[in-house]
Formats: sequence, C-alpha cells, structure tokens
Amino acid sequence: MVKSELKLADWWNELENGKVLCTLCPRYCKIGKGQSGFCFIRQNIDGKLYSAGYGRPTGFAVDPIEKKPLNHFFPGSSILSFGTAGCNLGCKFCQNWSMSKSRLDDLNAMNATPEQVVDLAIRRNVPSIAYTYNDPTIFGEYVIDISRIGRDKGIKSVMVTSGYIDKEARKDVYKYIDAANVDLKAFTETFYHKLTFSHLGSVLDTLAWLRHETDIWFEITTLLIPGENDSQEEIKKMCEWILNNLGDEIPLHFTAFHPDFKMRDKNPTPPSTLKSARSLALSMGIKYCYVGNVHDSEGQTTYCPECHTALIERDWHTVFRNKIQNGMCPECGAPIAGVGIS
Ligand code: SF4
Repeated sequence: MVKSELKLADWWNELENGKVLCTLCPRYCKIGKGQSGFCFIRQNIDGKLYSAGYGRPTGFAVDPIEKKPLNHFFPGSSILSFGTAGCNLGCKFCQNWSMSKSRLDDLNAMNATPEQVVDLAIRRNVPSIAYTYNDPTIFGEYVIDISRIGRDKGIKSVMVTSGYIDKEARKDVYKYIDAANVDLKAFTETFYHKLTFSHLGSVLDTLAWLRHETDIWFEITTLLIPGENDSQEEIKKMCEWILNNLGDEIPLHFTAFHPDFKMRDKNPTPPSTLKSARSLALSMGIKYCYVGNVHDSEGQTTYCPECHTALIERDWHTVFRNKIQNGMCPECGAPIAGVGIS
C-alpha cells in the first residue's frame, strides 16, 4: 500500500528526530521513522503515525455469536467477523497466531471500506459485526468508522479484545460499540508480564470502566492453561475481584486451551478443570458461568439464577431452545441479565 492510501492514525505524539509516540495502548511504543510499533500495523512514515490496518481486513466469516463468546447478547444470532494482521499483546499461548503475528502482506489482506463492511453485514442478513481474531484495539480508527456507520444502519458492533487499551483512546474506540468480550487471561501480574508481555492492571481498569462508565454489554473469558492460571486459589481471587468490582451479573466463560504457537509443551485443558472452575465461580455467587471449547451441554446452558430452570439450552455454539420471556425466567419471573435475550 502506498503512503497516500494509508490512514493517518489518531492517538500519537511527535517526538524528537522524527520518532512518534503511539498512545493507543499502554505499550506506548516509541517508533522511529520507517519502523512499526509492536503490533506491526501502526507505522511511522516520515515522522507521522499511520494505521496500516485501516481498511485491510484479512477475511470475513459469519459465526454464531456464541463463538465470540457472548451468551447474553442476542443469543442464537449470527455475527459478521473479521480481524486484521498484528496484535498489541505477545501471548506465548496465542490460539490465533497465524493472524496475530503476521504482517499485512503475509496474509494477502484485502481492501474494504467501512461502508463496504457494513453493507456486507446487511447483505449477509446479520444484525452485528465482530472485531475479532486479533485484537481490534490496534485498528481502532477502522472500528470507529465501521461502528458509527453500522449504528446509523441498525448494525451492532462487538469488540473481542484483551482490554489492553489506553484510558483516553478507549473513550473514542468504544463510542459506538454495543457489546464486548474481554479476555481476563489470568489473575497474576506474573502471568501477564511473562506470558503476554502486558499488564493485568490495565485490563482490570478497562473492565471497571466498561461496567461503571458505559452502557456496553460485556462478558469475560479466561482461557485456562494447565499449571499456569488454573489453580483454585487464583480462580477464587479472580471471582472475588469480579464480584467486588463488577457485580454478579457479568457472564464468565472458562475456555479450554490447546497447545499452540510458543506453548506446545502443555497439555490441553482437561474438561474436569473447566467444570471445577465453573462450580467454584457459581458457588461464590457469579450468576452466569460457562465453559467453552469443549462439548458440555450443562456448562453451556443458561440457568435461571433463582430457580435454576434451564433457560437457553446450548451445546458448543448451538442454541437448541430459548425459554426466556421478556427478559425474565418464565418459571419464577426472575430477571435475566443481557441484551436481546428473548
Ligand atoms: S497500539 Fe501498537 S504501536 Fe500503539 S502502543 Fe500499542 S503496540 Fe505499540
């Protein structure tokens, strides 16, 4: 792509000697002329920062919304999904590294204007668009333009993200976002530092901001990796933090790891680990807790938190039945948290 086609980035400052400071995520890369930031797709050209991921998706798919995973946002609906190359985290266990660790040219990224992305969602007859596969924070300018046009045309927008984003930039990037799934990858700074090259505190800050300063519906996902973040003690601390800071109605998903990228020496997560994490979370008071990346109908079904009636029956990403009526349990009348759930 030639310079004239590139999108000038938001969220950066000029430094000395033609360097720039990217202020989009808490990595705050200082980028020299001709260089890219850690995420590959934000580039310094002649002393200005450009968003090379703008308008360059790496492919589209229509997924069940349960695959994001979102279980309380228009359950059973489909969602147009895409990402770009690059990522602002460096997870050694990345489950999607062929995209996140690629440069745009490696992936033969296509060209699509924001209008074309929204029109594709309309043509595919899906109610929403997911910015997913890699971390959409790094193509925030593209997210803003698509989600703004989508909102005008009745198409909702969903961020699937690590939540590692600067406090000021997130106000812009999430302005037209309707829902998010945020990875809470572990509950120790050691894990975040050593295995993701990022920091836990920034992610917790984003979660608290979403809960207390926006109307965005969000759910949380934790990929449980044997021996790294799956101890009952760590899960207990994570659930305590969620309950104390976000409340008991944010759905929590524990998903299974498979050996990949730079972490091939670990075994896949045993289903028993997922089940016991879910049991612990429920016993502590989290109202909606799920398991993912395994077949477990019980662990994927939504139950009424009051009378325990099975309300949305699922297996893997398939919804078999939804009994919720007007946002309530039809048996006891308890309200069920979510958006567009019945
Ligand atoms: S968005 Fe990319 S370039 Fe900007 S600070 Fe984060 S990793 Fe660095």
